[in-house]
Amino acid sequence: MLAAQQGHSSGHPFSLLIPLDTAVPQSRILHRPGVGWTVNLEPVLAAYSHRLPIPQLVLEEGLLARLGPHLDTLFPAMPCLLAADPTTWSVAGPTVEASLRACGRSVQRHILRPSRPGATVQADDDQVEALRQTLEQFPHALLLALGSGTVNDVAKLASFKMERPYITIPTAPSMNGYTSPIAAIRSQGLKTTQPCHLPRACLVDLQLVAQAPYRMLAAGLGDSLSKPVSHADWLLSHYLLETSYNTVALPLMEESARLLQDVPGPLPTRSLRTVGALMAALCLSGLGMALAGSSAPASGGEHLISHYLDMTAGPQGADLHGCQVGVATLVTASFYQYLLGDTAAAIDIEARLGALSTWSERTGQIKRHFGPLATAVLPQARALHPTAALLRQRLHRLQHSWPELAASLAANLRPPAAIAADLHRAGAPSRFAELGLSPHRARHAILYGKDIRDRYTILHLAAELGQLDAWTNRILADELHAGEAPEKQPKPGPPGQTT
Ligand SMILES: [Zn+2]
Repeated sequence: MLAAQQGHSSGHPFSLLIPLDTAVPQSRILHRPGVGWTVNLEPVLAAYSHRLPIPQLVLEEGLLARLGPHLDTLFPAMPCLLAADPTTWSVAGPTVEASLRACGRSVQRHILRPSRPGATVQADDDQVEALRQTLEQFPHALLLALGSGTVNDVAKLASFKMERPYITIPTAPSMNGYTSPIAAIRSQGLKTTQPCHLPRACLVDLQLVAQAPYRMLAAGLGDSLSKPVSHADWLLSHYLLETSYNTVALPLMEESARLLQDVPGPLPTRSLRTVGALMAALCLSGLGMALAGSSAPASGGEHLISHYLDMTAGPQGADLHGCQVGVATLVTASFYQYLLGDTAAAIDIEARLGALSTWSERTGQIKRHFGPLATAVLPQARALHPTAALLRQRLHRLQHSWPELAASLAANLRPPAAIAADLHRAGAPSRFAELGLSPHRARHAILYGKDIRDRYTILHLAAELGQLDAWTNRILADELHAGEAPEKQPKPGPPGQTT
């Protein structure tokens, strides 16, 4: 499908094989007398000290009981507004409140409630607006977000809208958004990622996050394992659409990947050393997005598939973000494997141009598939729908830069089998069926995920090469086959919180 064009391999204007000339600094996981397990990120963050966007990033065992002194260095004596949902309040609210009151602070609560009884709390416009109004009532209060993805995203966006600082206190190592500058919010039906500010501090009690429901730990691993394919999508977009790319955050992402190496096998034991490594890997990848100035280093096609599943879930809600991302990562990693394994044949550019749908045809497809959501989806899909001239340009670039692009992609990617092995060892979902999704719904997520955001990924390239259906069939056939084999699942560790 792809042809190496003689004489063009070294002429690409964006040379991206940038080796790190020094070893990536490594963080340390220590057991300190009087404190317990702690992760020292200073070595890896030292290079960014002049522009580190989060003044305090602390990962320690038993930190909840010592919150007061940490806050005193940043915001002495400010009253606090503690945002939580009913579950995160029940597991940590009273301890945090007592710790703050012991330092002489007044504390108000804002509990996020589901929109109707029995539903789960979702990060959406209504929750953001409710918290924004509470912040207005307490104009001098410092906002503390006690929770995981939902509470953190709502607090991040509400405080951003009010130009007020906030502090995040994670309750689970389930995703990397604690230290990222974006909030994933459902807005008018569309799952959006909205630019925001960062917390002024991320204060992680390793003991607390290790006790989260085990699926949340598995979700954190799934979210982390996506980084190589996210990075590959970032590169792909840069090569084919000339979107921006930089290597500023590469050392953080490399260290995040190194920390993860030792996580999958022992994760079910919930040892604080392992949970500390996972949490540190998540924090570094979130910071990587902040320093790179884009979520692209950690959010590509696999995130579009997950966001699609969130947007189109029934009343029971979607699965955890990171669990969906882990499964979707296997999809896009496999797509890259198909792409890289198929270099011998030439792309027939004229045939691809002949098969290009008109925008009017695509509009009809999207309206039929998305129904009422189409109004929000159409502008996103429109932004990347190519004219014949643009598609010709993209495919020419692909041909001309192929040797260099293929080498860059291969240097960043991991084989799908290695990713699947990590998920299996940790007892994390690796198949759509383990997310409770039918093959029909899985197919839709892969085929239509690309339409919900104007970010170019391997899903878009697969469509432009005329391979999206065939590759999707291949993945789903493999998944069905994998489901027939008896699987050895490690036993999760002791039960933690229940949600
Ligand atoms: Zn994510």
